Amino acid sequence: MAIGYQSLFNDNDSVDKANTHKIYDVIIVGSGVSGSFMAKELVDAGLDVLLLEAGEFFSRTNFPKKEIDANSKLYWSGGIEFNKSADLAFLRPKVVGGGSIVNQALLDRFDDMALDSFKEQSGVSFFTKESMQPWYEKAESEIHQEVIPKEHRNKNAEIFAKGFEENNYLYDSLTRAQKNCAYEEGNDCIECLSGCRRDSKQSTLITTLKSAINNGLHMKSLFEVKNIVHKTDEVRVDGIHLKREYESFRAKKLVLASGAMGNSKLLLNSGFKKSLPALGQNFYSHPQFMVLGLFKEQINSGNGPFQALKSADPNFRRKGFKLENVFAPPVGISMLLPGHGEEHQQLMKKISHMACIEVAIRDTNPGSIKTNRHGKMIIDKKLNEEDKKRKNAGIEAINNIFSSQGAQRIIEGNLPIGLHLMGGLGIGERARFSVVTPDFHLHGYKNIFAADSSIFPNAPGINPSLTIMALTKMAASKVFR
Ligand SMILES: Cc1cc2nc3c(=O)[nH]c(=O)nc-3n(C[C@H](O)[C@H](O)[C@H](O)COP(=O)(O)OP(=O)(O)OC[C@H]3O[C@@H](n4cnc5c(N)ncnc54)[C@H](O)[C@@H]3O)c2cc1C
Repeated sequence: MAIGYQSLFNDNDSVDKANTHKIYDVIIVGSGVSGSFMAKELVDAGLDVLLLEAGEFFSRTNFPKKEIDANSKLYWSGGIEFNKSADLAFLRPKVVGGGSIVNQALLDRFDDMALDSFKEQSGVSFFTKESMQPWYEKAESEIHQEVIPKEHRNKNAEIFAKGFEENNYLYDSLTRAQKNCAYEEGNDCIECLSGCRRDSKQSTLITTLKSAINNGLHMKSLFEVKNIVHKTDEVRVDGIHLKREYESFRAKKLVLASGAMGNSKLLLNSGFKKSLPALGQNFYSHPQFMVLGLFKEQINSGNGPFQALKSADPNFRRKGFKLENVFAPPVGISMLLPGHGEEHQQLMKKISHMACIEVAIRDTNPGSIKTNRHGKMIIDKKLNEEDKKRKNAGIEAINNIFSSQGAQRIIEGNLPIGLHLMGGLGIGERARFSVVTPDFHLHGYKNIFAADSSIFPNAPGINPSLTIMALTKMAASKVFR
């Protein structure tokens, strides 16, 4: 048993004691945002649930302290993955709690533009503000949220705010799932990217997953599901524990919550493509481009709440991009900077003088997820001309902001990164063009469900987590019905 359990949860001998002989009511694959919310709902409904997670269990007592260790221990493939042409990077969490451990916990409801385009593409009638509202409310009731207070904005946020004002752009404060960050004590939220060591960030470890485990959820970490076998009234999952022990588990129903790439890979490798032709299609990632402004004075962008503000300009939304003030730890920044050797080193020495704004685009060019004959995942995802136009419009706005604030130099980061991995199992009415039905089960498979980021039919251009939570709540009632 990992150390983390002892400090976080009540004595619970169901943790890491999964039973290969019994038939569970439900098995959930993946303990991220969706998996944790699903687990709580199902356990609360009295079901016997097993949660399988490929990543390790960490908690505030043992989250990796060094950035380099966090990358390799909390993410798939040693920290970073790439598309086929190696010009777009992806960060895919692999840890108990999934994205909620490493993400920035910024929460937004979808606007009409996002919901309308989901509805139009999927034909699913509940993608309206009215239908989603009760589910957003239920999701929000699980997590404490705070707007970053103005008095704690750091210098990077001030540059963002002043630059927006001088260019007549509109901005707003970010809302974050957090509690008692105590900035006045000198806490820096950038550390939360490796897991929050004060339990201030409201990851699922301290919200839904904690509650589910304390109420009898069975969980097995370090278990990668490799194969799914569907039978009429039972589902079997086969996988590997600690990369060496093969085990199989059975349940009446299966919930796939291993994210856009995880779900697609698993179903493709289990032979579902023949019956689900749209499997692996329509993959999106909100590619983001970080732009650094080099200033004469020290900015210390990583101090305090390192993200506080977002664009709220209807023009930006119409043009398909959003801006946020942001920063990254040193290894991340070093990957963004140009040059090699001495030139790169000299720039890195100025890290405390760098402000940073990211442009994230609402990508329009659908990618695809495939696997080769060895089961290895291949991501075909490129920016099309429209995507590049969106990126360039965002970068132009950032240039205006930094220039108006006296930046000595503006550096466009080397590497676009997709953090919001979405699609592959798109939801929709028609089996030919979608994978998941409006009742959240796979077309043709009434006992296999999904409600995580994989079911997004396209890119909303808005932080996805809150909507994943809301959809998962909605889906849970279909699983235990
Ligand atoms: C650095 C970063 C910052 C972000 N910031 C924000 C933000 O501020 N706001 C926001 O809304 N979103 C943010 N996101 C995105 C957000 O975290 C994701 O959209 C969200 O976590 C997706 O939820 P999910 O349940 O679909 O999958 P995940 O949370 O990714 O969970 C999937 C889980 O399944 C496990 N898994 C995968 N395959 C298998 C398998 N075969 N067997 C067993 N387990 C498996 C994985 O290890 C993982 O733990 C951020 C992401 C990153 C990386």
